Amino acid sequence: MDQINLRELVNTLVRYYNFRLENTRPCRLARELTCFEFLVLTILNQNTSDVLADKALRNLWTRFGRPLMPEVLANCDLNELADLIRVSGMYRRKAGTIVSLARSLLSMGGENYLEIAPVSEIVNLLRSVKGLGEKSIDVFLLFKRDYPTFPIDTHIRRVCSRLGLSENSSYLRLREYFVRQLGPDVNLLRLAHLVLIHHGRAVCRASSPKCDSCPINVQCRFFLRRRRSGLDT
Ligand code: SF4
Repeated sequence: MDQINLRELVNTLVRYYNFRLENTRPCRLARELTCFEFLVLTILNQNTSDVLADKALRNLWTRFGRPLMPEVLANCDLNELADLIRVSGMYRRKAGTIVSLARSLLSMGGENYLEIAPVSEIVNLLRSVKGLGEKSIDVFLLFKRDYPTFPIDTHIRRVCSRLGLSENSSYLRLREYFVRQLGPDVNLLRLAHLVLIHHGRAVCRASSPKCDSCPINVQCRFFLRRRRSGLDT
């Protein structure tokens, strides 16, 4: 796992895609949304597109006002909430998670808790909310609380696996590896997270990855193995 220089690899991808952190969706949302809204959108975004998650959030704003308040959602009608976010898919489960999050926050004093409580306390609270996984919590911490962590999504896991970085690695182990290699600079961690996702969508796709034109193919175990065995990539 330590043979690849992760910083160099990230820099290569950033140069190749001319990637700019400021223009990315998570950075924009971190500026525009409250902590609670950011978490609600993270829940709405699970297993669906950004467009549909945004649409569901707009439905919530139209019905409950902006900014969304935990006090309001903690006591809303679950069926109505599910209907409002139906467009994002898995809406009953997501509605349950949002209400559970709102009630947990309410028990800690409301939205303010997410802004000021120590990260370790917030992590414990969020882990107790059914439907909020480690990745969602890490996205919130990295983009909204400036905390040095590294969310691993399905694209990053696939890219890492092909590079030879993550075979049989647990989420926690892979996250620790990234933070150790990249250090505590949150902007570098954000950049690495987002550019790897972009790479997984644009080039290192699940089927038919475009290995011949990939800027990091000389470091990729998948590519080198296939080239050695004479298979097309
Ligand atoms: S060489 Fe292929 S498999 Fe390896 S990172 Fe690039 S696109 Fe993915």
